[in-house]
Amino acid sequence: MERALLISQEKIQGRVKEIAAQISSDYEGEDVVLIGVLNGAVFFLADLAREITIPVRIDFMRAASYGSRQTSSGKVQLTKDVEIPLRDRSVILVEDIVDTGLTLSHIIEDLKGKGPRSLKTCVLIDKLERRETHVSIDYCGFRVEEGFLVGYGLDFDEQYRNLPDIHVLK
Ligand code: 5GP
Repeated sequence: MERALLISQEKIQGRVKEIAAQISSDYEGEDVVLIGVLNGAVFFLADLAREITIPVRIDFMRAASYGSRQTSSGKVQLTKDVEIPLRDRSVILVEDIVDTGLTLSHIIEDLKGKGPRSLKTCVLIDKLERRETHVSIDYCGFRVEEGFLVGYGLDFDEQYRNLPDIHVLK
């Protein structure tokens, strides 16, 4: 499938360092739990965590949405829960991309129920084209208007996740 380079590895890594510095400063003197949404956020979370200078714990969740591959149907089911207790912890939810916003808002509601001291969101790509529900994004890597993106964790049919840059599929 044809693809065009959208965000280079160098730009991604530069931005990841900036976000990590911001998080390290915002949470100075605390420790945080980073929760990655599988599978897409794995690369972003791994790079981010290694640039953060305060103590971090790491855990993962998985959400499945039903419908066609390139769009989200709005039915979100959590198929893997976190395993670290979150009560009274500072939690940052780390996601690869927000499109309609339905997945993230569903996960946020679920995490709120676990009684964290605070809950923020960190998203590599905020894709504005099809937003259906407001989600608050506290740390954002890049804003993109439209297109189907692959690379740096983002897949098409489980392919392309390992590309170091982000591309638009044509
Ligand atoms: P939302 O619930 O915000 O519509 O969608 C979030 C999920 O849809 C993401 O976690 C991701 O799995 C998928 N998604 C949305 N846009 C894209 C995209 O441009 N590329 C890829 N690979 N996945 C996307």
